[in-house]
Amino acid sequence: MFDCLIIGGGVSGVSCALVLGSARKKAFVADKKIGIIAHQKSSMLQDALFNNAYGLAPGTLGSDLLHQTLNNLSFLYPEIVQIGNEKVVSIIKQGAHFLVTTNENIYETKLIVVAINSSNPFTIDGFLQNYVISHQKSLPQKNRLQLQNTDHLVMENVYVAGTLAGHRSQLAIAAGSGAAVATDILTLWNNGVETHAHDSVKKA
Ligand SMILES: Cc1cc2nc3c(=O)[nH]c(=O)nc-3n(C[C@H](O)[C@H](O)[C@H](O)COP(=O)(O)OP(=O)(O)OC[C@H]3O[C@@H](n4cnc5c(N)ncnc54)[C@H](O)[C@@H]3O)c2cc1C
Repeated sequence: MFDCLIIGGGVSGVSCALVLGSARKKAFVADKKIGIIAHQKSSMLQDALFNNAYGLAPGTLGSDLLHQTLNNLSFLYPEIVQIGNEKVVSIIKQGAHFLVTTNENIYETKLIVVAINSSNPFTIDGFLQNYVISHQKSLPQKNRLQLQNTDHLVMENVYVAGTLAGHRSQLAIAAGSGAAVATDILTLWNNGVETHAHDSVKKA
């Protein structure tokens, strides 16, 4: 049973995982099982070239980021379970939990973060189909989708991040969206008391 399963190992999904991982020393995080399903074939990063993303060297390739960011995640936070090369095909709500079915396995989780980008169609069967709407900040002719949400929350224990949350397609926005979801989850796990995760040279 996962406490949190992130679906999508692109910009918003990995950003969410990094912030959750960086909070692992907090008592309310230490016992949490966190996973990320990192199927990469349909990532917007595959063909992207970055000159305008904060913190990235000009000319950075999205295809390199797909590998580097997951390597960084496993180096820094090996306790986060990385599930590679599996594509989620359905999510079903079962009581208070969710059954996440991929092309190879079934996983159970208490909380999910959907970070699979705004591509059309939305390919995950189950109750999330009821929340799919046209992307509110994209040109209609681009035919993009988002999940209906309020500040990333779709329904209790279901978050959406990145372009699928209705954000415009820029790396910094997607990364910020994933980080914002992570801090909302940390705050939830901290019984609603605001929290976030910082490292500092003064504390290193
Ligand atoms: C050609 C191109 C050039 C770009 N150039 C720039 C630029 O110059 N500057 C800039 O700021 N932004 C740029 N972008 C935009 C940027 O790449 C996106 O905004 C960002 O990647 C969106 O993040 P995301 O997390 O929403 O989606 P993604 O990064 O695409 O992540 C979604 C992840 O979910 C996975 N996934 C999808 N379906 C499933 C499933 N069923 N099960 C499991 N996993 C699944 C995908 O494979 C992917 O890994 C560019 C995009 C493109 C396409």
